[in-house]
Amino acid sequence: MTTANDQADAVVLFGATGDLARKKLFPALFRLSGRKRLDVPIIGVARSGWDDDRLRRYAREAVGAQPEPVDEAAFERFSRSVTYVPGDYQDPRAFDRLRERLGPLRRPLFYLAIPPSMFDDVVSGLMSADLHRGSRVVVEKPFGRDLASARALNGCLHRAFDERDIFRIDHYLGKESIQNLLVLRFANTLLEPVWNRRYVSSVQVTMAESFGVEGRGTFYEEVGALRDIVQNHLLQVMALLAMDPPVGTHADAFRDEKVRVFRATKAADTGAVVRGQYTGYRDEAGVAPGSDVETFAALRLEIESWRWAGVPFLLRAGKRLATTALEAVVEFHEPPRLLFSEPDSGPPHPNHLRLRLGGGNEGAELSLQAKVPGETLSMRSVPLAFSYEEEFGGDQLDAYERLVLDAVAGNRALFARQDGVEECWRIVGPALERTTAVEPYAPGSWGPAAADDLTGAGGWHQPDVR
Ligand code: NDP
Repeated sequence: MTTANDQADAVVLFGATGDLARKKLFPALFRLSGRKRLDVPIIGVARSGWDDDRLRRYAREAVGAQPEPVDEAAFERFSRSVTYVPGDYQDPRAFDRLRERLGPLRRPLFYLAIPPSMFDDVVSGLMSADLHRGSRVVVEKPFGRDLASARALNGCLHRAFDERDIFRIDHYLGKESIQNLLVLRFANTLLEPVWNRRYVSSVQVTMAESFGVEGRGTFYEEVGALRDIVQNHLLQVMALLAMDPPVGTHADAFRDEKVRVFRATKAADTGAVVRGQYTGYRDEAGVAPGSDVETFAALRLEIESWRWAGVPFLLRAGKRLATTALEAVVEFHEPPRLLFSEPDSGPPHPNHLRLRLGGGNEGAELSLQAKVPGETLSMRSVPLAFSYEEEFGGDQLDAYERLVLDAVAGNRALFARQDGVEECWRIVGPALERTTAVEPYAPGSWGPAAADDLTGAGGWHQPDVR
């Protein structure tokens, strides 16, 4: 439960002059201010010798780069709340200046939009200026590079903050469509009886991007698809698909169930991991000529629980694929006996529930078999479909708006917990060892052919190409 006292009384943006602040944070903060959902001072802290006006101009540029027109009066109101504190995070005076700027404010939210290598300096600076007490901290992914570094990072944060005051952002969890997945599962009794190994034959999650590394080759060389997407976003989506209903509405009831899924998931079997690299990746700026970094990864995972034992969970993520989409497909078993088997009809397609979670046209689609009109008993798959946009229109909180608002209010449910993060590193750990070379694939395809071997005879359900 959140009380008024849990509300942060300021947002302090470490990394205010950076890329994430420009692309996501200033637009989200401005929209929240425009919706009258956020009315606290916003203090940017970075190394550049900027002043309040320069940071406000940066915020205006950031907001102006968004598709919607800017309400200048609303921006003027917002910009009055934005100020700047210059300083190097390794210099204690930066934190003294910040303390002065905060004045009587005692419950700031520190947003670390900075490289993880700076966390230690910022945490030490906050502690030496005694700013950590009563405050909370938001950290951006990546939460480490592997299990050992994730533990070290958590150790660093725990020097100053209780786990309950650490908000690890995975922006996928702030998406409306992802929240809808929970409502779909836990507000419709229809699904629960069949949501298990007796009726489900496989679960697939695909995160496809039609674009490449877009000038961020240096960054991507350090990361790759397994660290960038699979360890965090895809495993989070898998947990939401696989978890049991939470036993209560408090944040930890929800997070406990997700972590139980991770604990029951076997570490990746390297024989069921395919790493790919699109042709042309090695020519991108910042990429090593002989790079072995994967721009595509596919895995078959097993969850050893009573609900899911024996059901393959197939996850894949890649760049420069045929389209941009985030989808989950739950495939059900084939009917046990064929009653309608006209020669031209073929066996019925097993039912599947397709959840379009991102990339546009979000919604859900249940495939059923229907009779094709005519003399024979021919059949084909037909969809029962629901479109988020058609049903509810377009004005929704975006993921960053929701998560910033939740962090300000102290709602932890949508943020990753330490034990969950560490479990996810354990699961992908063997795949990170790169025991096999990356397999090349053509841009615009669905990745290397070897990924098809991970699925059963039905293959991957490909998202619509749009
Ligand atoms: P940038 O490199 O663009 O920005 C880094 C920021 O940190 C700048 O504001 C910089 O200030 C500040 N900074 C760095 N070192 C110091 C220092 N010693 N003292 C004071 N300020 C310092 O990074 P991004 O915005 O791209 O990323 C920030 C974090 O968010 C990273 O952890 C990244 O992994 C994560 N992230 C980023 C995404 C993105 O799309 N960019 C997406 C998801 C996560 P100055 O400019 O003044 O030097």
